[in-house]
Amino acid sequence: MYNVTHSLVVWALIAGAIWLFRNKFSWIWCAWGLHVLCDMPLHETNFFPTPYLWPFKTHFINGVHWGQVWLIALNWAALVITYATYVVRRHQYGLWDESSRSVQVLGIDHAEKPSEN
Ligand SMILES: [Zn+2]
Repeated sequence: MYNVTHSLVVWALIAGAIWLFRNKFSWIWCAWGLHVLCDMPLHETNFFPTPYLWPFKTHFINGVHWGQVWLIALNWAALVITYATYVVRRHQYGLWDESSRSVQVLGIDHAEKPSEN
């Protein structure tokens, strides 16, 4: 399963099939591809190297082990900065409307629509 979930080939086939089926590109699927791209430099060849070209022959990248304290701290700092920036900007532009229950994620409106009846 690791090979299937960490292959950019599999990701491209599934994301492409969904794109064709829906006739619209689903940006949310890029999270999977981005995960694979992040894993490539963050795994060493001796422990779960990323098979990004599976089922084809893949030249594994001997990256940096992701479980090091400095890397985890950097990751958490990036998450905190990203979410803090998101919250501050929504407040700055008056987009923080609790009553609408509307969230804009990557241009997709996830608003709760009132029932027709
Ligand atoms: Zn992974």
